[in-house]
Amino acid sequence: MDEVTLEMIKMLKTRTDIAREIGDVKKNIGKAITDESREDNLREKVVALSKEINLDEEIATKFFNFLLNESIKVQSTNKQTHLSIFLKAKSLEQQGKKIIHMEVGEPDFLPPPIVKEALGEVYDKGFVKYGQAKGIPIFRETLAKYISEKFNVTNVTSENIIVSPGARFSIFTAITALLNPGDEIIVIEPAWPAYKDCALNSGIKIRTINTTLEDNWEPSIEKIRKMINSNTKMIVLNYPNNPTGKILPEKLQDEIVEVAKENDLYILSDEIYSEYKKTKWKSILCYNYEKSIVTQSFSKSHAMTGFRIGYAITDHVIVEKMAKLQALCLTNVSEPIQYTAMKALEADTSNNTNTVEDRLKILIKEAEEIGLDFVVPDGAMYLFARVNKEGFDGVEFANNTLDRGLAIAPGEGFGNYKDHIRISACQDEKTLTEGMNILREILSE
Ligand code: PMP
Repeated sequence: MDEVTLEMIKMLKTRTDIAREIGDVKKNIGKAITDESREDNLREKVVALSKEINLDEEIATKFFNFLLNESIKVQSTNKQTHLSIFLKAKSLEQQGKKIIHMEVGEPDFLPPPIVKEALGEVYDKGFVKYGQAKGIPIFRETLAKYISEKFNVTNVTSENIIVSPGARFSIFTAITALLNPGDEIIVIEPAWPAYKDCALNSGIKIRTINTTLEDNWEPSIEKIRKMINSNTKMIVLNYPNNPTGKILPEKLQDEIVEVAKENDLYILSDEIYSEYKKTKWKSILCYNYEKSIVTQSFSKSHAMTGFRIGYAITDHVIVEKMAKLQALCLTNVSEPIQYTAMKALEADTSNNTNTVEDRLKILIKEAEEIGLDFVVPDGAMYLFARVNKEGFDGVEFANNTLDRGLAIAPGEGFGNYKDHIRISACQDEKTLTEGMNILREILSE
């Protein structure tokens, strides 16, 4: 036994060295780290071999997924995303440089005024102690009522709600608590990077479905079907989407949910941009699927990014699993913030929705004039556009625009989209126009 184990360790060393070398080559020729068709090829060989030698196929492919993830880890260099550009922009600001922030999805307007009042009430109301990991009971009840009315669903009670410090943490707990190392998760790209980062952090294999501008950012149902195997445990949906603003046609969404049900997959549906929908949109809650986890947040709808407050809506058994991990990580979400968010639910935020919609219109008009390629967003607060210039590199470009006082997000942070950029509609009209003028100038040089 010792000999076999040590032999495996030596082979792991050889494999890791080769992976590192391949990583350098990929970097030099500008190739993406993950090559799904290459992996599929090898996966088929692994399955065939395990059949031949009579080894449990599920164990073999889990081990294979572990090896693939190790390769991804050694090949991952410091990829620049909207967050790294944001941090760089912040440090330039500290040096006294004026920066227009069109890289992050952070509304420039303030939370509703009731939030200010609520913060003042916290002390006297006594929301100042440790509490339940799932959230304050009255807040969970209020959220259940709010969700039921908003999405016209009848099956959501407080037992189906877990409050979290931002939707990001609900996404982390859902992925980490429900999946095991070697399991597979399907992510449709372009995608907000945290789904993949959370999965990789937990040893879960990410399978990506690439969508394109030409396909109107719609995933092929056939590709999804083909990708599913006995290790596939979850599919992530995010509509309205960050970065494309896409909302899936209802029929396609119905089909995806059907495929997930047939294969007993969890559906993690990140719906934090639902307040910013411009066209018809249907929450995954409407399907009444017990293996769905819907995430929501106060960050965008109520402009409360800094409060770090969000929640998930799911089956009560899943709530318990997520709560166990949440208790381990942070005991409970800050009580004063929970109370404040509960009061924020009383505010009418339709103005926020209208403001962002108007700003998106400005971005669309300017981007059309500049000649960028994009699909008009159905919602959210971004424009994801392709720049038709030979050898265009979004990361290089985002660093150049930053030098000229404009922060934008490189497409690479959302998947294999080197020739794309994401522009946020989170500034006032004048600032957005100013930012788009800088973009126009640089592109015409
Ligand atoms: N999901 C998506 C798609 C996002 O774009 C973001 C933040 N930009 C989040 C989740 C995280 O939201 P929160 O601030 O609630 O953690």
